[in-house]
Amino acid sequence: MALARSLLLAAAGSNTLNTMATRSRVVRRATRAFMPGEAAEDALEAAAALAGDGRALLLTRLGEALEELDEADAVRDHYLGLLDQVAERGMPVEISVKPTQLGLERSESRCLEHTLALAAHAEAVGSVLWIDMEDSSWVDPTLDLYETVKAAHPETGLALQSYLRRTPDDLERLAPLSPVIRLVKGAYAEPPDVAFPAKAETDRAYEELAIRMLELVRDAAGKGGVRAPRAVFGTHDLPLVERIEARGRAMGLGPEAWEVHMLYGIRAGEQARLQSRGIQVGTLISYGEAWYRWYMRRLAERPANVWFVAKSVFG
Ligand SMILES: Cc1cc2nc3c(=O)[nH]c(=O)nc-3n(C[C@H](O)[C@H](O)[C@H](O)COP(=O)(O)OP(=O)(O)OC[C@H]3O[C@@H](n4cnc5c(N)ncnc54)[C@H](O)[C@@H]3O)c2cc1C
Repeated sequence: MALARSLLLAAAGSNTLNTMATRSRVVRRATRAFMPGEAAEDALEAAAALAGDGRALLLTRLGEALEELDEADAVRDHYLGLLDQVAERGMPVEISVKPTQLGLERSESRCLEHTLALAAHAEAVGSVLWIDMEDSSWVDPTLDLYETVKAAHPETGLALQSYLRRTPDDLERLAPLSPVIRLVKGAYAEPPDVAFPAKAETDRAYEELAIRMLELVRDAAGKGGVRAPRAVFGTHDLPLVERIEARGRAMGLGPEAWEVHMLYGIRAGEQARLQSRGIQVGTLISYGEAWYRWYMRRLAERPANVWFVAKSVFG
């Protein structure tokens, strides 16, 4: 299983495979299980279809590394337009953006400008900006970015990854800010000195970090006038969610005190079931033409998906 994951993550980095896959109509069709289409309109329609049960919806446009810094302006404009569309439709949609798509790799100051612009517009239309966490080389500048944007726009959220050995320290660094955190396990190929090589260690770290996030929510609840942190668990690991729920209850926190976010097309039935039993669910819908690397990471998370894709392609 670990070998399959490594091979799929290595394939995610291949430019040749990227070109072959994105040109193939058959492979594009197979991606429909995880993304409703390449256009923002496809994602908005899928969001509208899911919105009926009261869940939160999040949209993200998949992107490649930028070749020119000016491309980041276009990414910002795209999301500004998307927020306008969301506001026009009156849908409870939040957006999730990768800092490198906003130019982090080329200019931290331009990336900050764009992120502030998106957070401000999200706030103005009643939405929320989430900042994704990318590979470990971006964690330091992303934390700096988050701290600045959060000070100006307190609803802004950040993803933290439990597979990174450093994340408990990062969470403590953010704790005084009443952080809005989406905890995920982590999706990139990382060296063992940086990230836990064994999945069991990542899972254990996730649970410990989740408990710490619940403690932050509980402690803020006791202090009137303090903005509550937002604890979001970005995972499809249902036994883990059950354990988090039990730990929350033991601390006096019901399911309304935290949220679960999952990806479109994964455990769809469970997403509806959790929402119907009072857990606030959010579904993150991806769209865009640059889906290859993202899609390979989804396959690497569950190599059995390769079989599922093969069936949808060949039969
Ligand atoms: C809302 C959201 C936002 C995310 N944002 C980021 C981010 O900013 N940075 C980052 O590095 N990663 C991000 N991820 C990805 C994350 O890091 C994991 O790679 C991914 O969620 C799989 O881990 P898991 O927690 O679901 O647990 P796992 O233990 O991997 O999976 C638990 C179970 O869920 C099911 N499952 C999981 N993945 C799949 C799949 N692809 N297909 C079918 N079934 C599956 C399987 O049944 C599996 O047994 C995000 C994930 C979510 C849900």
